[in-house]
Amino acid sequence: MESHYKIAIIGGGISGISFAHFAAWKNHSSIVIEARDKIGGCIETYYSTKAHDFWLELGTHTVYNSYQHLIDYCNQKGLLEQLQKRNKYPFKLLINNNICSIIPQLNLMRAGLGWPLFKFTTAKDKSVKEYFSFVFGKQNYNTILRYCFDAVLCQNSRDFPADFLFKTRKKNKNLPRSFTFKNGMSSLFNNCENEVFTIRTNTTCNGIYYQNNTWHIKTNHSELTADKLILATPWDITQKLLKDINHPLADLPHQPTLSNLITVALIVDQDKVKHIKPLNGLIGVNQSFYSIVSRDVIDHEKYRGFTIHFKPENHDIISLITKFLAKLNIPNDALIDTYIKTNSLPCYQTHHSRFLTSLNKRLVQDNSLYLTGNYLTRLAVEDCVKRSYEEFLRLVSTS
Ligand SMILES: Cc1cc2nc3c(=O)[nH]c(=O)nc-3n(C[C@H](O)[C@H](O)[C@H](O)COP(=O)(O)OP(=O)(O)OC[C@H]3O[C@@H](n4cnc5c(N)ncnc54)[C@H](O)[C@@H]3O)c2cc1C
Repeated sequence: MESHYKIAIIGGGISGISFAHFAAWKNHSSIVIEARDKIGGCIETYYSTKAHDFWLELGTHTVYNSYQHLIDYCNQKGLLEQLQKRNKYPFKLLINNNICSIIPQLNLMRAGLGWPLFKFTTAKDKSVKEYFSFVFGKQNYNTILRYCFDAVLCQNSRDFPADFLFKTRKKNKNLPRSFTFKNGMSSLFNNCENEVFTIRTNTTCNGIYYQNNTWHIKTNHSELTADKLILATPWDITQKLLKDINHPLADLPHQPTLSNLITVALIVDQDKVKHIKPLNGLIGVNQSFYSIVSRDVIDHEKYRGFTIHFKPENHDIISLITKFLAKLNIPNDALIDTYIKTNSLPCYQTHHSRFLTSLNKRLVQDNSLYLTGNYLTRLAVEDCVKRSYEEFLRLVSTS
């Protein structure tokens, strides 16, 4: 088996795979090394064998017509033909055992007063808690809004930097505002076998070093070498690999930490949950979960699906599922299939922009190392793909 490559990419999530794709598109071959038995990382559609023809998302569920780099990627892979518009249903709150609309729970007078502040006050260097309790009022923030932000980020959002929460992007009006694919988000990884890159799954990189202008990559199977190394792994892994070789990037201040969650996907018989009106998702107010993402946005004649993102401190999954079914009055015999996965996301620190600036400043001095992932500009898939594209351009310009 070949063991020297021009480009080696560690991590087969959307960051690593889109990097390999953009490189292949410009005729640069590469190898992608992925620890799990499949590529995709946080993007994973669960195809149930018990509920025929039904799938639901274990991670990313929505992409938008403002995700320009992702749209370019989809376009190049011919994926836009499989684009699936999502039904419009509301996000609701789960307060105690009751499903409630968001707006009536807010002090609208105070929230309304904050609207101009929201438009004209800078969020720079402020935490989500500081910024949004100033803009929309402490009470609105503490009782309702903090749970909405926790649900968006799937983590305790209190100290997350407010300026890294949302981003306004130009919309491509030729596409639906938000969409998925006919077979779910894992379609983003369709046809990778036909592209000019190699994927090695079940292969964990557990060490790297640079010698004689060559990267050496140690894996659980063997060692391979490469001219250029792309780390597309979560920050904790990237940091550890760099720390082992005393790379200065490993010791930058204001580094992100990691937030874990336990994701449980439930598929239920539609006829037995008619009392729950169609939903986009549920936001947990003081609950054991951050959010529940519903599959109602895509019609199905027999089944409904709910993906629950539980907080990491919960360990007894079976009792959590039982409590959840009871809370929503879902009879046990409605349950057709269950699937459990752990997910993790970076938790940015308040001065994340300083981390990002020093990382990029140091990185441009290095023509052999490239970093991409969701711990840089934002968590959204678009930010990962954009970063991969920009790092690929840097690689070409320095080759
Ligand atoms: C529950 C959830 C819901 C989300 N919803 C949305 C959404 O609706 N819209 C949106 O835009 N974004 C969403 N996101 C964010 C988005 O999915 C992620 O930020 C993005 O997919 C991250 O991609 P990545 O490739 O950078 O990292 P990951 O997907 O984490 O991929 C990293 C890969 O590296 C591999 N790896 C790790 N260590 C090693 C090693 N030592 N050797 C080899 N391989 C290794 C991992 O197995 C993994 O496959 C969501 C995320 C989560 C968790």
